[in-house]
Order: sequence, then C-alpha cells, then structure tokens
Amino acid sequence: MVSHELKTPLTIVLGGIKTALSEGIGTQDAHMLLQDAEWGAQTMADIVDNLLELSRWQARRLVMLRTKVNMSAAINSVVERSSHKVREHKVVADIPGTLPEIPIDRTRIERILDNLIDNAIKYSPDGGEVRVSARIETDQLVVSVRDQGIGIAAVDAEKLFQPFARLETHLPSSSIKGIGLGLVVCRRLVEAHGGSIWVESEPGKGSVFSFTCL
Ligand code: ADP
Repeated sequence: MVSHELKTPLTIVLGGIKTALSEGIGTQDAHMLLQDAEWGAQTMADIVDNLLELSRWQARRLVMLRTKVNMSAAINSVVERSSHKVREHKVVADIPGTLPEIPIDRTRIERILDNLIDNAIKYSPDGGEVRVSARIETDQLVVSVRDQGIGIAAVDAEKLFQPFARLETHLPSSSIKGIGLGLVVCRRLVEAHGGSIWVESEPGKGSVFSFTCL
C-alpha cells in the first residue's frame, strides 16, 4: 500500500519534470507541470516523514527536542502555509493573543498540525472551513482542528489512531488518497509530549480533532 501511494506522486514528479524540460514547451505550461511536480514531491516527503517517525517510535528512539515556543506563532505559521495550498477550503486560525510560551518540539507539533489540517481538507470533499483553535483548559493548552467534512461514526473513533486504519466512506474508494499513518503518528508525537489526542464527530456534520501538549 505504501509503495503504491508513493508511486503515484513519483510518476507525477518524473512526468512533470520530463515534460517541462522537453523542447517547445511554453513557459506557462512548464510552470503548471512544475507545480504538479512540487505537489508530488511534497506528498512523498509527507509519507516518508510519517514512516520515519513511526519507525523511530518502534525503535524507541522518538526523542523530543523541546524549546520554549510561542504557540500562537507556531499555529499561525502552519495555518498560513496550509491556506496557500488550497482553493476550495478556507483554513483559519482562531487563537487568543495571549497563549503562553511552552516547552515543545516545534517541528513535531507542526507535523501534528499539518497532518490534522491535511486530513480536515481531504475529508471535506465539498470544501468549507478548517478552523484551528487553541485555548487553555485547567492549566493545559488544548489545540483543535475543526472541519465541516464527512464526519466519523462514534464506533470508528478509536480505530482511527491505529496504524494503517482507514474507514469506509460513501465516496468512491480511490477518491481520497491515504495510507492510514497520519493519525497514529499524531498520537505517538502527542503522547511523547505527555499529552493526549481525541476526536469528536458526527457523520455528515464534520469533525473536531483536539490534542493537549502539556
Ligand atoms: P489517511 O488519511 O492517510 O488514511 P490517517 O491516519 O490520517 O490516514 O487517518 C485515518 C482514517 O481516519 C482516514 O482514512 C479516515 O477514514 C479517517 N479520518 C481522518 N481524519 C478525518 C477527518 N477529518 N474527517 C473524517 N475522517 C477522517
């Protein structure tokens, strides 16, 4: 399954670059092909990053590199990056101006957010808003990613955080690509920070994935 999911973007990267380099191709067409190639390369990089995190965890070598991080800035930068990648969705941040600085592994927290936002977009095929919010609750920082997508049945909620778990949807099976690694990696990284991750959802009404990191 992993090799299949890597092959599709790899074909797009190679095909895009080869065609863009061929003689007689216009600048605009070459630009579009290279944009597709960039998408393919990013997709492969995300899969490889998730596989590496999982194998570090399996080898008991998942070490968090904590520094004091301004969480508002970290969340805003992920949201900003994601909002440039989408057209039919709106990715917005909803955070109070005064989040405390906390000792986290910034790259890992950004990876969690990237995975959750990518899912929120993927599983909202009709578009809509993806809202990333943060709040302090009983001395803990809770970060949530809310979407208006297909939602999840209560019986499936625990399964999602298992390796390679993918749910049946009413959508054609190939229409939403994935290998079922994003959420298990989120869980491992959240737990390595001493936090927890959970989902609240209703089929057809969207989902809210939340995690604490201290
Ligand atoms: P992938 O998206 O690659 O399949 P994940 O581990 O990220 O893997 O997610 C596991 C499964 O959880 C998905 O296949 C999907 O069925 C479900 N899922 C994840 N995020 C959402 C979401 N925001 N809305 C609805 N279903 C979701």
